[in-house]
Amino acid sequence: FDPNFIRNIAIIAHIDHGKTTLMDRILELTHSIDERNMREQYLDSMDLEREKGITIKSHPVKVFYTGKDGNEYELNILDTPGHIDFTYEVSRSLAACEGAILLVDATQGVQAQTVTNTYLAMENNLEIIGAINKIDLPTANIDETMLEINDLVGIEADSIIPISAKTGEGVTDLLELIIQKVPSPLSKGNTSDKLKGLIFDAKYDKYKGIIVYCRIFGGKVKKGDKIKLMASNATYEVIEVGIFHPEMIETEDLSAGEIGYIVAGIKDIEQARVGDTITDALNPIEKPLPGYKEVKPMVYAGLYPGLPEYYEELRKALEKLKLNDASLVFTPESSPAMGYGFRVGFLGLLHMDVVKERLQREFELAVILTVPSVIYKAKLRNGEEIEITNPSEFPDEDLIEKVYEPFCKLDIITPPDYMGDLINLAQVEKRGNFSHVSNAGKNRVVLHFEIPLADLIFDFFDKMKAISKGYASMDYEITGYKESNLVKLEILINREKVDALSYVVHDSQSYTLARKLVDKLRDLIPRHQFEIPIQAYCKGKIIARSTIKALRKDVLQKCYGGDVTRKMKLLEKQKEGKKRMREIGKVNIPQEAFLALLKVN
Ligand code: GDP
Repeated sequence: FDPNFIRNIAIIAHIDHGKTTLMDRILELTHSIDERNMREQYLDSMDLEREKGITIKSHPVKVFYTGKDGNEYELNILDTPGHIDFTYEVSRSLAACEGAILLVDATQGVQAQTVTNTYLAMENNLEIIGAINKIDLPTANIDETMLEINDLVGIEADSIIPISAKTGEGVTDLLELIIQKVPSPLSKGNTSDKLKGLIFDAKYDKYKGIIVYCRIFGGKVKKGDKIKLMASNATYEVIEVGIFHPEMIETEDLSAGEIGYIVAGIKDIEQARVGDTITDALNPIEKPLPGYKEVKPMVYAGLYPGLPEYYEELRKALEKLKLNDASLVFTPESSPAMGYGFRVGFLGLLHMDVVKERLQREFELAVILTVPSVIYKAKLRNGEEIEITNPSEFPDEDLIEKVYEPFCKLDIITPPDYMGDLINLAQVEKRGNFSHVSNAGKNRVVLHFEIPLADLIFDFFDKMKAISKGYASMDYEITGYKESNLVKLEILINREKVDALSYVVHDSQSYTLARKLVDKLRDLIPRHQFEIPIQAYCKGKIIARSTIKALRKDVLQKCYGGDVTRKMKLLEKQKEGKKRMREIGKVNIPQEAFLALLKVN
């Protein structure tokens, strides 16, 4: 295909703003799949996954569109994840394109993550076309949405088009605008005759192994070629290349300007890293494409099977998920309180939710996640520098010289009415610092903060949504590490330390948290025949204490009883898990108590 008539574009949209519906219309308009089959086969399968909230992004789609100028154009449309945790992946998908559609729901306005992704597109020099969607709805506010797009990302009216993905109104005009305004792939230059390709995604397939999604910037690649992945420094022989139309279709070759896939017998997803450059192993380019980065998990949590017998099953499930998710890392961990499980690293909270959800839905595993923790850094008195991913490994006070924690730039877009309460949430309840406010259209403002990541990863999002009745949206970016006055808080039950109940907190919050924890434990642990002291220990002393009184014998029975009718496998596991007791310091602690505590902060 003549690259002059290729347009590579990404869609940037917030969830529910109409991306799937728009793709549906474009496929229909370009007669790309049999219309009758479309709903059932292609889009419904996506819907099902989406309903589960587990799809991060769908694969790219190639369509052919005959423009009003009479020419036939090849459009490659890439999905980008709208989630905060996947910014790096978004940036690589954008780097594979020359243009982007910024799709905004006219009844909702621009959301915070969309702004971030649009900025990323601008950094990659993409031509951005705004599409104001759902204009068929009476509540659509086209003018205000237009103003917001102007204010937030500076796109002018002549690059914005009102559409209805549902009725199809404006969609042809959108395609016309794309072929006129978005440059052809030649604009990014076919700078080399040698093979130069960008990996922007990879999927695991049972039969083919790893399927690499790539954009070719120079040269071409075909079956039988020897390719080299530059960052992972591995060489493979190409077994198959092809395009997405929208299913994978094998082609003769992939050449400069095109977007497609490569199968090359790659076994491990970690070999096919997003952002890596593909070149000819025998005739390689000298310098890889810019922008490659190794993604590192930012949030860690303990992950335990609901019942110890499911440990093996959980390990297998994690390994399966890992096949498609290079950013998921896990190592075995055991804890006297929780038994055998894993320490798992995630890109962020959303990534964590997705993994948990998938374990439950796809593998029917009831799992327990402990309170997530960020990665702290510490400089020890002996000069050593360490990273701490598990609060129970936080070193003793007297060993530490300095502690550092990750900080973020946080942006919240909200109607002005909720401004006061949101600032209060970030500044008073959490440890954020309000920086300034800027305008977005007439009806909304952007609040800018600096805040420790640790304060964002626990219930911030839910509280923000509750305060703003669902109207506010947020986005954050980790800016770096800063020194912080952090201390370790530990809980002793009957004078024995409970590793699962170790917390790293800011010194100013240690007393409040300690009080909450000892009180809650007192309520959660059943009485025993002896008195049980519960203590919170911090910086070498006990800072809070409560006592569970001793019990007269006859009541004991009642605390443990109860039989349940079991229906679903999942429910059964969960219930059993909750009835489990852990013995710490001769005290029987229901697993339920741990679960309830994991929610305290
Ligand atoms: P996605 O999450 O961005 O893929 O959003 P969907 O395409 O699934 O759309 C979310 C909801 O908005 C669905 O119920 C769609 O039917 C609806 N929707 C999408 N586009 C339009 C539109 O132009 N008009 C109306 N009225 N509804 C739309």
